[in-house]
Amino acid sequence: MVQIIDKKLLPKILTGEKNKFESNVGELIFKGIPSSPGLAMGKAYVLKPDNVVVRPKKIPQDKIPNEVERFDSALQVMVKDITDALEKVKGESPNVVAILETNLMILNDEIIINSVKERIFKGISAESAVIQEYDQQEQFIKKSKDNILKERSFELEHLKERLLATLRNKVISYTIPEGSIVIAQSITPTDVVNFKDAKVLGIITEAGGIASHSSILARSFEIPSVIGIKDLTWFINNHEKVIIDGYAGIVTVNPPDSSIETYKTKKAKEEDHKRELGELVKLPAETLDGSQIKIMANIDFPEEIEAAVIAGCEGVGLVRTENLVISLKSFPDEEVQYKWYNEITERAYPNPVILRAFDVGSDKYAEGMPMLEKNPALGFRGIRFLLHRDDIFRKQIRALLRASRNKNLKIMLPMISSVNEVEDSFKIIQECKKELEGNSIPFDNDVPVGIMIETPAAAFMADRFAKLVNFFSIGTNDLTQYTLAADRSNEMVTDIYDTFHPAVLNLIKNVIDVAKSNKIPVSVCGELAGNAAATGLLVGLGIEELSVTPPMILELKKRIREMKFKKAKKLAKEILECNSYIEVCKKLAIF
Ligand code: PEP
Ligand code: MG
Repeated sequence: MVQIIDKKLLPKILTGEKNKFESNVGELIFKGIPSSPGLAMGKAYVLKPDNVVVRPKKIPQDKIPNEVERFDSALQVMVKDITDALEKVKGESPNVVAILETNLMILNDEIIINSVKERIFKGISAESAVIQEYDQQEQFIKKSKDNILKERSFELEHLKERLLATLRNKVISYTIPEGSIVIAQSITPTDVVNFKDAKVLGIITEAGGIASHSSILARSFEIPSVIGIKDLTWFINNHEKVIIDGYAGIVTVNPPDSSIETYKTKKAKEEDHKRELGELVKLPAETLDGSQIKIMANIDFPEEIEAAVIAGCEGVGLVRTENLVISLKSFPDEEVQYKWYNEITERAYPNPVILRAFDVGSDKYAEGMPMLEKNPALGFRGIRFLLHRDDIFRKQIRALLRASRNKNLKIMLPMISSVNEVEDSFKIIQECKKELEGNSIPFDNDVPVGIMIETPAAAFMADRFAKLVNFFSIGTNDLTQYTLAADRSNEMVTDIYDTFHPAVLNLIKNVIDVAKSNKIPVSVCGELAGNAAATGLLVGLGIEELSVTPPMILELKKRIREMKFKKAKKLAKEILECNSYIEVCKKLAIF
């Protein structure tokens, strides 16, 4: 992971002198995992791990009550620390509060407290009892197949270290100078709250997971953060200049003037962008009369998630996985796919991500198809290709399932037109689950599976599909092409290809109504969703979820916040009665 640019340093590192660098040794660039987006430059504040080594220590019988008392009061100090931190985050999102409450719950866990005391009663010191009990709990959690639970083992480790330090009256306290970039081996959620208070500019850690509570908090507080840079605390001294790029996961130590200039340009752009977006980012997409609309992002590559997050989306409503095939010019193996999908779900965590199975064929990846079709848009595309080449489909499903273990992934099937396509796909998904189970590979057994509604057949038979699947996503690009029999990529029929055609709109209305009566979520992920002129109409038709390209997120939010649902509903009703798209457009123009 560590990329050392300045080769002069290598001999020193190899001879173990790595912590004795003078400053101005030259630029060092490290690549880690981006865990909270944003850019910052500041002075390093290195939190060295407090290496408390405790050997099992026998306690004479008469000293046992004293040990129990020491443990109780250390516990009280810690509980007070976290309760104070909780006080500081009043009014933050429920996530933030829940994280600290989890820490409190662990500390106050009766079973753990009693086990520690039982160990002390057997004649060992409070420190040894804490180590034994917390280590045992940690081992137990680490064996869990649940990745999120595994992440929690970091927290047990931190709580243990703090308890030990507190027991030795070494309450870990630090006064961080304002404008610092903290570099630590690992941190607790309580630390992150304190960092926010101390106006820390960035957080870099050696350990940690993107789904850990500390990472979630850094994202909530908008503190740029990079994690997973092994041994970093050895390479940086206090007060050295550091640039952190939480979008790309890059940390630059002792940047030369040229890197500082590049940083300043990027930072100015970031600030301009944020200013433009203003307060909208944090405000909900809610109509004046209180209807909530979820705005999700359509993304094509993992890097795009950052822009979507900055714009305040609530998840990813469509990932066109065929882009991976198109960019590689071949179907990638399971491992490559797994890494790609996993990166996307981890970057978006805890928000949900809908990954669509390869929609190859038609105008997408035609070179890889078995034969040149005369009319590819009506041919061997999407689910038709996948069910025929089930070797490719199975590999993808296995990779998707593996990336689902954090429970924020949903699978979507493209180009569905018949019920049997869904049934056959489900059979394959079930078989893949069995295989993974047989190999003890973790995945989300309840991973939601939904379908694109992009053929008139699927739209007409939405009521049958609704009984089989977990969600619908309306693909207006293809729905328009197939409903109006107008090739979406043929410039000769652009006048005919119009998504505002009443036939398309009436199909959309049917799908929304069916989804609602069957209580399954429905979104629109085609281009119509990102067309600001259509927002009122879609909201009026009853849509509650839109998935659009990241740059459109705030524009739509603005529109939604300025409209009334009641008025939009009335407009939608009138529009459904229109005879032509020209009539529709006239009505929309005056809305
Ligand atoms: C659609 O058809 O509307 C859609 C979102 O899918 P694609 O554009 O990838 O075909
Ligand atoms: Mg489509």
